[in-house]
Amino acid sequence: MSDIIKLLPDHVANQIAAGEVVQRPASVVKELLENAIDAGAMQVQLIVKDAGKTLIQVIDNGKGMSMTDARMAFERHATSKIATADDLFNLYTKGFRGEALASVAAISQVAVKSKRQEDDLGTLLEIEGSKVSRQEPVVTSQGTMISVRNLFYNVPARRKFLKSDQVELRNITDEFHRVAMVHPEVAMSFTHNDTSLFNLVKSTYRQRIVGIMGSKTSEKLVPVDEETELVTVKGFIGKPEFARKTRGLQYLFVNDRFVRHNYLSHAVASAFEGLLKDKSNPSYFLYLTVPRDSVDINIHPTKTEVKFDDEHSLYAILRSSVKHALGQFSVNAIDFQQEKQYEVPYDVAKNAHSQVPKIEVNPDFNPFQQESNTNTSYATPSFQKPLTQPWEALYAGIEETSQLIDETHAQGSTSSMFHKAEVEQRNIFQLQRKYVISTLKSGLLVVNQQRAHERILYEKLLRQLTVQNGVSQQLLFPIKLNLPANEVAVLINLQEELEHTGFLFKTLEHNVVEIEGLPLELKEKDVPLVLEAIIAKEQQELPENKYSPADRLAQTMAVTMSIKTGEALNSEAMESLLDELFACKEPEITASGRKIFINLSGDSLHSKFN
Ligand code: ADP
Ligand code: MG
Repeated sequence: MSDIIKLLPDHVANQIAAGEVVQRPASVVKELLENAIDAGAMQVQLIVKDAGKTLIQVIDNGKGMSMTDARMAFERHATSKIATADDLFNLYTKGFRGEALASVAAISQVAVKSKRQEDDLGTLLEIEGSKVSRQEPVVTSQGTMISVRNLFYNVPARRKFLKSDQVELRNITDEFHRVAMVHPEVAMSFTHNDTSLFNLVKSTYRQRIVGIMGSKTSEKLVPVDEETELVTVKGFIGKPEFARKTRGLQYLFVNDRFVRHNYLSHAVASAFEGLLKDKSNPSYFLYLTVPRDSVDINIHPTKTEVKFDDEHSLYAILRSSVKHALGQFSVNAIDFQQEKQYEVPYDVAKNAHSQVPKIEVNPDFNPFQQESNTNTSYATPSFQKPLTQPWEALYAGIEETSQLIDETHAQGSTSSMFHKAEVEQRNIFQLQRKYVISTLKSGLLVVNQQRAHERILYEKLLRQLTVQNGVSQQLLFPIKLNLPANEVAVLINLQEELEHTGFLFKTLEHNVVEIEGLPLELKEKDVPLVLEAIIAKEQQELPENKYSPADRLAQTMAVTMSIKTGEALNSEAMESLLDELFACKEPEITASGRKIFINLSGDSLHSKFN
C-alpha cells in the first residue's frame, strides 16, 4: 500500500486554526481592537452590523503596514511582535501568535486598507476564504482599516451556532469594554447598525470607567493604589453598596490585558468579607502591573488566562490593598483582623513600613450578626460565625484549621478533627442505610449520610473551581454521548468550569460529546446522570441567578454524585465521612440550607426519661 499521510493545504489548516481563535464575532472584535492598540493608534473606531454577523470593521490611525507586510499579515504564524521564544517572556504587545488575521481570513471576506506615514500610497487588499482576490495601491490616510464580512460564510455549521444578535452584541460589547477600560489614552468609539453606542474621548482611568459604566458610577468608586516590588495595584473598587447579585462588574487587568483569574478574584472578594450581604458580588476595576517575566500569558489560545510565578504573594498583596482602600474610604464597620494563613509578605515591598494597612475598627463589630447563618457565602470568614454552632461546641478547644483556600486541605491533612475531638472510643454505626450514628463523650451524633456527602463534595468542587486545581481521571476508553445540539451548547458554555472539576471533553459533531476525563469522585456509570442534571439546571436557571456558575455547578454535581440514602456503608467509609464532614467550613447545612446532623446531648436524653 502506498503512504497515506499528507500535509493539509494552508487554507484548510487555517480554517482548523480558526476554530480555536474565532468562536464568535466578539473574538474577531477582540483581535482587531488589540491589533489597532498594538499598532500605536490614538483613535480606534469599531463599526458593527447585525451583531457582527454581517460586518465587523475597525479603523485605526496607528502605524499602518507596507504593501508586503499587509500581505504577510495574513499568513499563519506571521507576526512583527516576537522573533524568538525568549520574547514570550518579555511581551509589550497584546498579540504575539501571528495567527489571528490568518484565522479570520479563512472564515470570512476581509478587506484591508493600510498606509504608513512614510508612504505616499497605501495598499488595498481583499481576501476571501484565505485567497487573495485583489491587491492594489490606494489613496488613504495613515493607519489601517479592516472589514470582516459574513463571518463563517464558508463554515455553515459554525454560523448556525451563533447566538441571537442580542447575545452576540453583548459579547462584542464586553470585548470593547475590556480594551477600552485599559486604554483610556486612546479615543474609542463603537457603532452598531448606525447607532452610536459609545464615543469615548481620551481621558483618565476614572473618566473612562465612568464613560463606560455610566455617570452614576463615579461616586461609588474607591481608589486602590499600592506599590510593591512584586506588583503594582491600581484602579478602583466599588463601595460595598455597589455590589451586585450577579457577577459582572469585575475587571482584572494584568499588564494591560484583561484576565480571568479565579484565585485572584477570590482575593478581592475575600477583602470584602463581612461588608457584603449574602451572595452579592463586589465590583472592581483593578489594574495590576507585574514584571513581564513573572507572568505567563501563553497558556490559553484566547489569552484571558494567565499564570503567575508567585500567586500566593499576589493573593495576599491584592487582598490587603483592597482592604486598605476600603478601610480608608468606607471605614464604619470594617474588621481588619488578619487571618493567620495570609500574613502579607510585605517584606517584599519596597517601602514596607508605609504600606501595611493598620486599620483597627472595633474588631468585635459584626454587621450581620442578627442575620440567619444559613445564607453565609462560601468564603465566610471565621470571625463572622457565631460561636454557638452545635458542632463548634462539640469541638470547643480545638484549634481551628485554616479555612480559606488551603490546597492541602483536601488531601487528608485536615487534621482529623473528629479523632482529636473527644472520641477516645468512637462507636459508629449505620441506621436504616440513611443515618450514620456516632457516640460522643457528650451524647449522640446523628448524621444524614446523603446530605453530609453532598456538603463534602460541594466544598471540594467549589474549591477546585475557585483555585482551578481539579484532578481528572483519564478514561482509557472515552465515553461518547449523543445529545441534542442545544444541550451540547450548554456544556460548551460551561467547558472551562467543567474542566476545573476534572471533566474533560470535546465535541465531535454538533451532537456528539466525547468524554475523556472525569472528576475523581465520579463513577463512570454516573456520567450521563450528572451531565443531565447539569444541563437541566443551566436550562432552568434564569440569568439573574443568585448563584455564580461555579457555585451552581458545584451544587448540582454534589447533589447528583453524593452517596444516596439506601447505600450501605462500612465502618471505614463512615469514619471518613464524619472526618471529612467536620473538616468542612459549614458542616451543619447543605448548600441548599438543609440540616445535616443533629446532636443529642446526654442532658436531652436524660430529660426524656423524666
Ligand atoms: P499578532 O497580532 O499576533 O502579531 P495578527 O495575525 O493579529 O498577529 O497580525 C499579524 C501582523 O499584522 C501583526 O504582527 C502586525 O504586524 C500586523 N498588523 C495587524 N493589524 C494591524 C494594524 N491594525 N496596524 C498595523 N499592523 C497590523
Ligand atoms: Mg493580533
